[in-house]
Amino acid sequence: MAFDALGLDPKILDALEAQGYTSPTPIQAQSIPILLEGIDLLGTAQTGTGKTAAFTIPIVQHLLEQPTSKRRKIKALVVTPTRELALQLGDNAKRYSKNTGLRTAIIFGGVGQSPQVDLLRKGVDILVATPGRLLDLQGQGHIDLSELTHFVLDEADQMLDMGFIHDIRKLLKIIPSKRQSLFF
Ligand code: AMP
Repeated sequence: MAFDALGLDPKILDALEAQGYTSPTPIQAQSIPILLEGIDLLGTAQTGTGKTAAFTIPIVQHLLEQPTSKRRKIKALVVTPTRELALQLGDNAKRYSKNTGLRTAIIFGGVGQSPQVDLLRKGVDILVATPGRLLDLQGQGHIDLSELTHFVLDEADQMLDMGFIHDIRKLLKIIPSKRQSLFF
């Protein structure tokens, strides 16, 4: 199977070509068609299998299908346990949405919040965040999740091991119940 058999926006196909990807990895071939249908997914895959693109590509496709007037409101939220993972996922989201006009922001704790608040003020389509800083900035009114359509819990097992269950419960109360949920 080739990526162009999946009905993806040409901008995404260009971005994938620029990455040197010729065909989907097995987890991508299995999950992209399901996610494009808008179905919730619980995926298990080892690191290095291409899972980031497996969930990011369908999100970018869906966001491109939404009217541009809806841009710059957080539509997709990716929550991950560590700063390193947040940086990596955010970097991937930026690459796969290259030239689409969609904006990705990455937020995590342990650093000053003002550059992150500035980014959020400018408007963001895809937000990649660690749980603590996310709830902190949301509590301060810097993050509006009311228009969220896609929620990704990355490394969900590690997140629970690290004691993030309370943060995740709080988060689930804040985000719209009508959304596509992806747990990896
Ligand atoms: P991940 O499992 O998401 O951390 O991805 C592991 C690595 O595989 C990353 O360096 C990606 O850039 C790369 N990768 C993801 N999808 C593909 C693909 N379809 N073809 C080739 N490399 C890929």
